[in-house]
Amino acid sequence: MDHDDQPTVPLSGEVRMPLLGFGTWQATGKAGYDSVLAALDAGYRHIDTATMYGNEKEVGRAVQESGLRREDIFITTKLPPERAGRERETLEASLSALGTDHVDLWLIHWPPSSPADSIPMWREMLAARDEDLTRAVGVSNYSTAQMDELIQATEENPAVNQIRWSPFLYDRQRHAEHRDRGIVLEGYSPFKTSELSDPVLARIAAAHNVSPAQVVLRWHIDHEIVVIPKSVTPERIRANADVFGFSLTAEEMRDIDALGGS
Ligand code: NDP
Repeated sequence: MDHDDQPTVPLSGEVRMPLLGFGTWQATGKAGYDSVLAALDAGYRHIDTATMYGNEKEVGRAVQESGLRREDIFITTKLPPERAGRERETLEASLSALGTDHVDLWLIHWPPSSPADSIPMWREMLAARDEDLTRAVGVSNYSTAQMDELIQATEENPAVNQIRWSPFLYDRQRHAEHRDRGIVLEGYSPFKTSELSDPVLARIAAAHNVSPAQVVLRWHIDHEIVVIPKSVTPERIRANADVFGFSLTAEEMRDIDALGGS
């Protein structure tokens, strides 16, 4: 498949988010740089980082040295909510480390511990988007009720909610709550929350001549859920991107959904 022609999901306006992204938590220093460069070489066009990960500089350097055009790569970073009142300077530091004048998606990393910070922080996110410092804004680790508070106060929906997700956490109701609000569900920790030796995954993997890890990733994509596997191992980086040569039948999707018990 042409790497620049991967499946995407529309966010607000013209923005399209690749359903497959590359996770970078705990990939710092040389390992961070090397893994992002390997990921871009393997065909990922979406990189997930955060202020908290301490690797934006390495991510930025890999993007610049990949030879790809900035507009062909979707970059997400995240605001630590304890930076309440310093949102703008935190984003500027991210942009400077990443070596870019805008990110594609900026997320509140988790709900602020002080509920009073919640709406003002969301307004700061929206202001940064309106000034084109980020193309879209969203949240992470938010409940539906917490997102509804933001929507009620500002009439602006988060474009994305990034939460822990995998077949074993599949929650049909929660997925529908995102869809009903036009909020894209982005899953994180797809492998850490999966039992890769599960017999259902093994059977389906064997039927397609792929690995259970690839089945987990494909399941997200077939549900139009964004997935961001992390690896610092070159073979895994490549294998985790090689998920566009097969797709799951409706029956296989149902069998995998059932692993979540909902
Ligand atoms: P993942 O579920 O992506 O698992 C990563 C682990 O799985 C690593 O130990 C990796 O090993 C291993 N692995 C990678 N590929 C395979 C494979 N094909 N088969 C078996 N094992 C494999 O966990 P993460 O928690 O890193 O989640 C992914 C990304 O989501 C993060 O990197 C981060 O970007 C984001 N995230 C966001 C959070 C938030 O609060 N918003 C919280 C947590 C994660 P190795 O690297 O050694 O190859």
